[in-house]
Amino acid sequence: MAPKRRGKPPKHFADLTPEERVASVVEAGEPAFRAKQLATHYFTHYTSDAAQMTDLPAKSREALAATMFPQLIRPTRKLEADGGTTVKTLWHLFDDAKVESVLMRYPNRTTLCVSSQAGCGMACPFCATGQLGLTRNLSTAEILEQVRAAFRSLADGEIPGGVTRLNNLVFMGMGEPLANYKAVIETVRTLVAPQPEGLGMSARNITVSTVGLVPAMQKLTKEGIPVTLALSLHAPDDDLRSELVPINTRWSVDETLDAARNYFEVTGRRVSIEYALIKDMNDHAWRADLLGEKLNSRGRGWVHVNPIPLNPTPGSIWTASDRDVEDEFVARLRGHGIPTTIRDTRGSDIDGACGQLAAEEDDE
Ligand code: SAH
Repeated sequence: MAPKRRGKPPKHFADLTPEERVASVVEAGEPAFRAKQLATHYFTHYTSDAAQMTDLPAKSREALAATMFPQLIRPTRKLEADGGTTVKTLWHLFDDAKVESVLMRYPNRTTLCVSSQAGCGMACPFCATGQLGLTRNLSTAEILEQVRAAFRSLADGEIPGGVTRLNNLVFMGMGEPLANYKAVIETVRTLVAPQPEGLGMSARNITVSTVGLVPAMQKLTKEGIPVTLALSLHAPDDDLRSELVPINTRWSVDETLDAARNYFEVTGRRVSIEYALIKDMNDHAWRADLLGEKLNSRGRGWVHVNPIPLNPTPGSIWTASDRDVEDEFVARLRGHGIPTTIRDTRGSDIDGACGQLAAEEDDE
C-alpha cells in the first residue's frame, strides 16, 4: 500500500475498490484470492484482527493485516443513554483529529449517525459542530471504520435487545457530507455492495443530509444510487435562511428546492426537509405556510418535512420552540397536504443529538 503521506490518513483496505484490493494484495506478495478472504473478514465478520484470520498462513497473517488494516480510528470515550440503546462514541483519528458517531437502537431498526468530516465549514450558528470550523475531510476508510465498529458492536450483542444488524445509516454526524463528496460517495458504494465486497446495506436506508450544496446535489442525482436525500432547510425565506445556513447566500432557497425536487424526479426517492424549530426565530405559522406553498408549487408527493425541536448547544441563545407553537407549525404543513413528522432527538442528554456533536476532549 501507499506509504503514509503527511496530513493524510494511511491507506486502508476499505479505501479500495474490489479491483484495487486484488492489486494491493498481489503487490504485497500474496495470491489474488487473499483479497476475497480479507474482504470476508472485514465486511462479513467486521474484523481486522489478524488473530482471527485463521484461513491465512500463520507466518504472513500479522504483516498482511498490519499493511491492509492500519488502525485509523481509536475509541476514547463512550457515552450511553436510553438504557444503553443510544451510544455515542468519541473517536481519535491518526492525527488526533476527533469525530463522533452515534448508534441508536429502536424496536424495529438500528441507526448509525456517522461523521464525514472532523468539524464542519458550514458555520450554521445553531449547530455545535458549525462552531468548530473545519479541521479536515475524513477518508473513505475513516467513515467506513465507524460503520464497521457499529456492525461489530451489534454482532457482539453489546447493545441491549440481543444480537442485531445495522439497517439504517445517516450522514448526520459531524461535517457536511457533500463537501467531502468523493469519500462519501465511495463510502456509499461500499455500504451498498453485497457482502463480502461491501456491507450489503440498502441504499434507501442511507440518508445523505446536506445544507444544500446545489452542484453536489446535482452530481448525487446522477450517481444512480437511490440514497435518501435530506435537505437542511430551516427557513423558507432567503433573509432568515442566510442567517441560519450561511451557504444560502451562495445557493438560494429556490435553487436548493429545485435541486431537491429534481433529485426526486430522477431517483424516485422522496426528499426529507429538515427544519430545526427555534423559538421565535423560524417557528412562525406564516413560515410554515410559506414552506408549504414553496413545496407544493414544485408538485405533490415528492417531499416530507421533519421538524426537529432545536437541541440546545452550549453558549447558544436559542432554545426549542414551545410545544403549542411546534404543534401549530406541524398542523399548518399538514394543512397544505405535506407529510410531516417530528424527528425524535435521541441522545440529547449525552450531547449526541443532531447538531450537538462537538467531539469535546475527555478529561483524561
Ligand atoms: N451538514 C449536514 C449534516 C449534519 S447535521 C446538514 O447540515 O444537513 C444533521 C442535521 O442536524 C441537519 O439537519 C442539521 O441542520 C441539524 N441540526 C444542526 N444543529 C442542530 C440543533 N442544534 N438542533 C437540531 N438540529 C440541528
